[in-house]
Amino acid sequence: MSSSPRIYLDYQATTPVDARVLEAMKPYFTEQFGNPSSISHEWGWRAQAGVDRARDQVAHGIGATSREILFTSGATESNNLAIQGVARAYETQGKHFITTRVEHKSVRDVFLYLEKKGFTVTWLDVDAQGCIDLEDLKRAIRKDTVMLSVIFANNEIGTIQPVKEIGKVCKEHKVFFHTDATQAAGKLPISVEEMGIDLLTFNAHKIYGPKGVGALYVRRKSPRVTLEPLVFGGGQERGLRSGTLNVPGVVGLGAAVELYERERTSERERVGKLADGLFEKLKDAYPDIKRNGHPSERLIENLSLAIPGVDAEALVGDLPGIAFSSGSACSSASLEPSYVLESIGLSEKQCQGTIRLSLGRFTTEAEIAIVTRGLIDAISRIRAKNRV
Ligand code: PMP
Repeated sequence: MSSSPRIYLDYQATTPVDARVLEAMKPYFTEQFGNPSSISHEWGWRAQAGVDRARDQVAHGIGATSREILFTSGATESNNLAIQGVARAYETQGKHFITTRVEHKSVRDVFLYLEKKGFTVTWLDVDAQGCIDLEDLKRAIRKDTVMLSVIFANNEIGTIQPVKEIGKVCKEHKVFFHTDATQAAGKLPISVEEMGIDLLTFNAHKIYGPKGVGALYVRRKSPRVTLEPLVFGGGQERGLRSGTLNVPGVVGLGAAVELYERERTSERERVGKLADGLFEKLKDAYPDIKRNGHPSERLIENLSLAIPGVDAEALVGDLPGIAFSSGSACSSASLEPSYVLESIGLSEKQCQGTIRLSLGRFTTEAEIAIVTRGLIDAISRIRAKNRV
């Protein structure tokens, strides 16, 4: 593959910054470099105006009001603030939380930490397609349940949870509903009102914005959610997240959300067709390949493929010009089988034979044709080698 072009199919790990997003950010590195907390001069006011606009853009993108948006350093921090912040604020009222077995580590590890600190967590199973069961959820709710945290769309298998129905159950039982929407925001229409969401996490770098910036939506009425801050200092973000804001990053997040809102429909139709086409061709060549996740309630750009008789690491190694991941990029630093894939019932061998391809805004038909050919040939090579 040495002369092959470089093709990026790992958009669920991160995305390039869209040139239009970068243009929006640029002035905030140079001319508009002020500190938004500097309320006594124009430099500060201009920076604050950029932040205000971004807050409006982000709020609009999820049907919230601007005062309900906090800016953070990314989805990991937003998840930590949502879960630990609520846990500490409501500790005297209840210490029971509910989550799922398919959360990103930035949710999972927070709950594992809370368990060590004396909180109780119920871990909901998912079915073979990656969905939780609403009846399981209802059964798990107790008098002392404070919050449910559910990943909106999964980063490994792309399954979208029945968020609106989950929101309804939470409302009925007066349980806060937090969702990690890092893989969903921008891509899917989200309305925190219609979906009954009380806290929502996402970041910029999955939606063609910069790394190191994220948002947390925190509901202010019906019901009002209170958080204990994790970071203390200058009192920025209404005292909930001290520290000078990453102004260019925040402006980039706002621009990225607005852009996606405008272009979502046409862009995603195109990307979905490319992903389905790639899968169909692979399946024609190797009918035993399985697409993990839900058949319809899924992120269209996600292709989580279980390929029998093929080691995913070997496949990644065989196609160095193509960027994709074995299992989940987020946990591929560890060599343990993915807990998400295990949760949908894959054996250790099937987990090891699973790759994740994720397409995006800049993926072209020509690239998909090259990748299709490359994968078909590489699978044949690896299977032949394994047979020897
Ligand atoms: N949640 C999900 C679902 C993710 O996919 C990621 C990124 N891998 C994160 C949280 C963490 O995001 P960040 O890189 O902004 O901390």
